[in-house]
Amino acid sequence: MTGLSDSFQRPINYLRISVTDRCNLRCVYCMPEEGVALMAHGDILSYEEIATVVRAAAEMGINKVRLTGGEPLVRTGLPQLVRLIAEVKTIDDISLTTNGILLARYAAELKEAGLRRVNISLDTLQPERFRQITRCGELEDTLAGIEAAHAAGLEPVKINVVVLAGVNDDELTDFAQKTISDGWHVRFIEHMPVNGDDSGLLKLVSVAEMRRRIEALGQLEPWKADVGNGPAKYFRLPGATGTIGFITPVTEHFCYQCNRLRLTADGKLRPCLLSEEEIDLREPLRRGATADELKTLIEKAVASKPKGHRLAEGRQPKGRPFSQVGG
Ligand code: SAM
Repeated sequence: MTGLSDSFQRPINYLRISVTDRCNLRCVYCMPEEGVALMAHGDILSYEEIATVVRAAAEMGINKVRLTGGEPLVRTGLPQLVRLIAEVKTIDDISLTTNGILLARYAAELKEAGLRRVNISLDTLQPERFRQITRCGELEDTLAGIEAAHAAGLEPVKINVVVLAGVNDDELTDFAQKTISDGWHVRFIEHMPVNGDDSGLLKLVSVAEMRRRIEALGQLEPWKADVGNGPAKYFRLPGATGTIGFITPVTEHFCYQCNRLRLTADGKLRPCLLSEEEIDLREPLRRGATADELKTLIEKAVASKPKGHRLAEGRQPKGRPFSQVGG
């Protein structure tokens, strides 16, 4: 293993894989109600093709893999992919980002296949509001998914909340309270103005403002818990066993510590979530490229990682919707 680093000396050891562009929800800030144009099934990488990419990447120093989407659990047989990735000896962390709707059905099987932990996206604790934000989901399904994840030992279970002014920001303390009452690890994420979203309705709530409101429950103490190796800054409320994290992709971007590459469901390697650049791996994979050829392409993607995004200046990436790149 050589270890990868980009032109800005950032070590790259993390691959996020979007296994499908399909989703069983239509969250207002992520997808239009009618959905987006879907990829043809034949354009989507097979599990074996994904595993081939993982094996090549692992030989170059990638040791963490996250499965995402779309909604990864709508793809049939996901545990089979987890199993293939778990066979790659140097991958020491396989995680999943999911809306949790189908998790109760698959949590135990995923754990048994080698999945280590899950992040569950949940933007409200109110059933009616859940229906409004997701346009078609039931809160109780995601809550059952969270319980099943704990029961299966997919720890730490992290709850990701995208905070939207005027939509769910009145629930900041309800979520924070869950870190005391239920030991939840909650991460509040700034809404990113992408997907051509200039509605003006989905306004960002600054972390300073989030903290101010949460501190109605007590002072937040910085917490260096073993709950993350990503960009969140963690805190604890007095008496809590869970943690509160803040992720600030817009106001305080963390591109300087970005350690990621992304693989889209149709086999494009993306050096950055928020740039349009991508390198095709599907065609080389399907004409039988060698591991060395794949590694050259992976190196090329790493070399082209941009220094940072420019969302704060109002620059939105064009091209694919967020749901296709795997948030
Ligand atoms: N379906 C899975 C889920 O819900 O976690 C995985 C894919 S989803 C695109 C991944 C994450 O991206 C979710 O937590 C979602 O809330 C977040 N997301 C989508 N659009 C976003 C935006 N504009 N700003 C911030 N986060 C966003």
